[in-house]
Amino acid sequence: MVVAPEALVSLVPLILAGFLFLLWRRSICSSAQVYRDSLTGLPGRPAFDRTYLHPSGKTAPEAIIFLSIDNLRRVNELFGYRRGDEVLKQASHRIGVALPPRTELYRFSGETFVFACFGDCDPPAMAETVLKDLREISPEGATPLTLLCTAGIAMKGREDLTDAADLVRGAAAANAAAREQGNPHMLYSRSLREEAFRKVRIARLLSESVEDDSFTMHYQPIHDSEGNITALEALLRWSPPGLGPVSPDEFIPLAESSGLIIPLGEKIIHRVLEETSFLPPEIRPPVHINISPVQLESGHLQDQLDEALLWSGRSSSEIILEVTESHLIHRLSACSALLQELQGRGYRIALDDFGAGFSSLQYLHQLPVDILKIDRSFLRYRQAPERTARILSAFRDLGEGLNISVVAEGVESEEQFHLLRTIGFCRFQGYFFSKPQPLRALLPFFTGSSLCHEEESGEHRQDRAKIHCT
Ligand code: C2E
Ligand code: CA
Ligand code: CA
Repeated sequence: MVVAPEALVSLVPLILAGFLFLLWRRSICSSAQVYRDSLTGLPGRPAFDRTYLHPSGKTAPEAIIFLSIDNLRRVNELFGYRRGDEVLKQASHRIGVALPPRTELYRFSGETFVFACFGDCDPPAMAETVLKDLREISPEGATPLTLLCTAGIAMKGREDLTDAADLVRGAAAANAAAREQGNPHMLYSRSLREEAFRKVRIARLLSESVEDDSFTMHYQPIHDSEGNITALEALLRWSPPGLGPVSPDEFIPLAESSGLIIPLGEKIIHRVLEETSFLPPEIRPPVHINISPVQLESGHLQDQLDEALLWSGRSSSEIILEVTESHLIHRLSACSALLQELQGRGYRIALDDFGAGFSSLQYLHQLPVDILKIDRSFLRYRQAPERTARILSAFRDLGEGLNISVVAEGVESEEQFHLLRTIGFCRFQGYFFSKPQPLRALLPFFTGSSLCHEEESGEHRQDRAKIHCT
């Protein structure tokens, strides 16, 4: 059949329109693909942003739940990424089944999901149901895995939350707080936000303080059963302007997560050696320095210590490195090798907060340990004194059997001191003898001089130490 050229010309607009239609369809499909996560098939964060954060987007949902699978990384490391993918697919399917019909589910990042809830919803109950359903996942053909999940919830109209961006931020902050505090789920509140701001502020001030070295060191003595000082523990103190004193329990984890602990740790070592150098060598006790696992893993610790010894003319036998058992859990063999090397160079190693973790005896087996510091929680059980005494005796036997010196931490009363002494403990540390204080305030303990007599508390504690010297 021959088609007249005029007829062909009249078909051109039609062909062109069809071609354009096909192009448009393709672009729609591929952009939908871009907005969907290829593993779970769920819409991703760009889809959420497009739906709610775009100027022409939908109004914010009633609530946002931000859920994280906290041990997904561990699953990937231990069982491989394929198993991790399986877990994610099953988890997203289970969440989808558990959620009420009007809830939208997004996969926000590797291990986080966001649910947008509408209408008359009960987000805490929803979070609980989902968390329960995710507790155990059984990837095909493999042993079941326990998932550790946490949820943060933010509800519209509560506190200062109005738009979708606020809700996501609030739910993510609640999720982080829940993880930190070990709660399965938490509801966003203003105090939580203030806490988060405080952390950001602390992190900023911390970095400035590391730069200008505006920290101080306090020292807490370790005593023998006669009350004599056998060693000192150096404890960091920080009081940034406008915030007042901040506990090391609060700022050390921030210094660790930001990596600041590495320059800070180096400054601590220098400061401790510098300050204690003023004590005459004949009365100078060895000093315990707390070492963070981040410092251990940084690969710089040995050089930092060597350099500080060179500069101060001191010996490694004067330094005891305190490591906290629960912090070493993930890198036990690497840390063990490092500590062994340090021990070989003459530093002594103290295992801090012993007994507070989950696998203390395993640590003792694998780590080179010279000193065990028994966690102060063991002295708190007033209701069962006999049981407490038996547990403490077991720590004493452990030390004796392994030829390791054992220090009882957190001795706050004469009664505790007597109990420990009767059991056979030989080393004690705690407020009963002395709170951590500047080295200057401790001088009378060593010399009997009246150098620090203006320090009322120092004088008082000195008396106490004397009582037990006799
Ligand atoms: P830690 O190493 O277990 O230090 C002992 C903590 O117990 C100190 O708290 C001390 O003040 C407190 N303490 C001592 N005796 C008693 C007592 O009788 N009763 C009670 N309730 N508490 C007592 P601090 O100084 O607030 O330090 C807290 C933690 O911060 C330390 O625990 C240590 O893990 C960390 N830290 C402190 N200074 C440093 C440091 O220079 N470097 C590193 N990496 N961590 C440090
Ligand atoms: Ca310590
Ligand atoms: Ca301790």
